[in-house]
Amino acid sequence: MNAKSWRTLVHVIESVKTSDGGGVKLHRSIGSRRGLYVDPFLMLDEFFSDNPNDYLAGFPSHPHRGFEAVTYMIDGHMRHEDHLGNQGDLGPGDAQWMTAGRGVIHSEMPQQSEGRMRGFQLWINLPAKEKMKPASWRDIAASDIPVVPIPAGGQVKVIAGIYEGTAGPINGHEKKLTTDPSYLDVSLPAGSEVVVPVSPGYHAFIYMYEGSATIGDVGEGSLLPYRSAGVLSDSGNVRVLALEQGARFLLLAAKPIREPVVQYGPFVMNTREEIEQTLADYRDGNFT
Ligand code: FE
Repeated sequence: MNAKSWRTLVHVIESVKTSDGGGVKLHRSIGSRRGLYVDPFLMLDEFFSDNPNDYLAGFPSHPHRGFEAVTYMIDGHMRHEDHLGNQGDLGPGDAQWMTAGRGVIHSEMPQQSEGRMRGFQLWINLPAKEKMKPASWRDIAASDIPVVPIPAGGQVKVIAGIYEGTAGPINGHEKKLTTDPSYLDVSLPAGSEVVVPVSPGYHAFIYMYEGSATIGDVGEGSLLPYRSAGVLSDSGNVRVLALEQGARFLLLAAKPIREPVVQYGPFVMNTREEIEQTLADYRDGNFT
């Protein structure tokens, strides 16, 4: 594979500590400042703590409109319930793909009082014509997420999209999802590399949640440190080389929507008027 075909690291977004929901401590990279999006990705939170006081408050009942929220657990249990009566308990390695569409009111609460809680929540925008579609959700068991070994060492879990011919449970190519997202969880031992093809023009970023790695050609500006999101250039394949501690990271890619984004907390629309309408709908009980 030609080095020219590799995407480069164009911007490193260090995560910042914040809290959300009832007071859950988390590390936010994408979405940590107004406008810090990687279209169509709006936000990525990592929650990771061995201290129950950091997570027990959970995310009590709250609304969303206009986008999709994907929860992926590494350690611990999270129970969700929504206004439609849906409920599920996500355990280690499980995921939930929730399309808020015109409105969902739900809670996401840890189901443990001790031990490690670790996972991610990613927000993916919806195009204008899909923002008001009915809410839907899907729980994905860890056993339904394919694990593809990398011949030279390491593995790729395919939550969405396709890697080396293996499709994940969310396959936007087949289902014709507008953003056709890829969501890969990659583990690399020290000194190993992986090359992942990403469609030209799709936006992509990597979130490093263990260790560190270089992106593309090794050299100045190629280092992606721990707990940072690396925004990649727009064409070519993605090459990641793990440094001496190995690397675990999420690789997210999707087709950009290229529409205006107006966000007000848990609501993401195209215009201020739509946000005002959303607030009115929520106040008047016409939300879902
Ligand atoms: Fe939520």
